[in-house]
Amino acid sequence: MEKLLPRFLEYVQIDTQSDPYSKTTPSTEKQWDLAKKLVMELHQIGMEEVSIDENAYIMATLPSNVDKKVPTIGFVSHFDTSPDFSGRNVKPQIIKEYDGSDIVLNKSMDIVLSPDYFEDLLLYKGQTLITTDGTTLLGADDKAGIVEIITAMEYLINHPEIKHGEIRIGFTPDEEIGRGAHKFDVEKFGAEWAYTMDGSQIGELEYENFNAAKAKVTIKGKSVHPGYAKNKMVNAIGIANEFLSLMPPHEVPEHTTGIEGFFHVHKIKGEIEHAEIDMIIRDHDATHFAARKEMLDDITAKLNKKYGNYLSLSIEDQYKNMREKVEPVFQIVEIAKEAMESLGITPIIKPIRGGTDGSQLSFMGLPCPNIFAGGHNFHGKYEYVPLESMEKATLTIVKICELTASQIK
Ligand SMILES: [Zn+2]
Repeated sequence: MEKLLPRFLEYVQIDTQSDPYSKTTPSTEKQWDLAKKLVMELHQIGMEEVSIDENAYIMATLPSNVDKKVPTIGFVSHFDTSPDFSGRNVKPQIIKEYDGSDIVLNKSMDIVLSPDYFEDLLLYKGQTLITTDGTTLLGADDKAGIVEIITAMEYLINHPEIKHGEIRIGFTPDEEIGRGAHKFDVEKFGAEWAYTMDGSQIGELEYENFNAAKAKVTIKGKSVHPGYAKNKMVNAIGIANEFLSLMPPHEVPEHTTGIEGFFHVHKIKGEIEHAEIDMIIRDHDATHFAARKEMLDDITAKLNKKYGNYLSLSIEDQYKNMREKVEPVFQIVEIAKEAMESLGITPIIKPIRGGTDGSQLSFMGLPCPNIFAGGHNFHGKYEYVPLESMEKATLTIVKICELTASQIK
């Protein structure tokens, strides 16, 4: 376990920012820098079948050390960091025995990480925190997950008295641009189920996420001299406005929480002859999700009837709630929960108001709940991670491997 921190500090200093505008996989050349290092590290600790493919997807095996047949399980995390904030020249700072006061990240730029604003900090009084220097993100998302998985495998290799089945691990590029799972070879991975180590606060355990789609309304118009426009002009801007007025005003991100779904209009542009509305649709419940799409259809039809076919609607699915894939094999959540409880961690089980790679993997045939990796305030300069949370995540992995084997008679 003593290698956890130095490993983490080393990895976060390697820039692996992904790029949504790139068409290649990995989306940035620099992700290879860490990918190659990880392959070496996996060889060094004694993992078997270490492989990296042409897209930088890494896999490795820890062979079973029992005679009986135990399901092969996996652990997955991503090594890219978010394009939202710089990951170059990360200078991690270590705060030992955090006393609950303000942390000055950068004196000259007056950047302070304060529990007045980020009250979660107070959960970690007395612990060791790793922060940024205020000029970059940290990259605990998800290098914490990478380090926890590697360190857990090393721990199992050094403790052969802990009995486990075959364990597969997978590290992916480009999760932050929504492309972490799409080239993941589930068949080659060959696990019955897996866990992404990509959650936040200690205890988080998630197997429900949004159903997600994006929608675009395109509206045509007819421009006529405004002085002589009566009964002739069709103003696309006006129709766009009417469209929005027919949508439920309170089913928006700023008015919803928990398992309440929403429409989120994030872009609108318009001229008299052409207007566009871009929005996303989110709902945990598949029936409600379908009803939301239908509502947009209905509004489109209604306005087309009123004005004469000036509107068109396109809806594209993005990802689905993994719950339907996890529920039939719910013991995989129970095992993770039991593992945490046996380590004195209180599981925090709640639906994600977003998606994870695990939801895609679940629909590709690899049921894949998400477990905490320990970090907070992802994708920005206030990102931090308590060392103790990373240690607990590592032990959670070890325990899940042990419990999976011990529950099979
Ligand atoms: Zn992540």
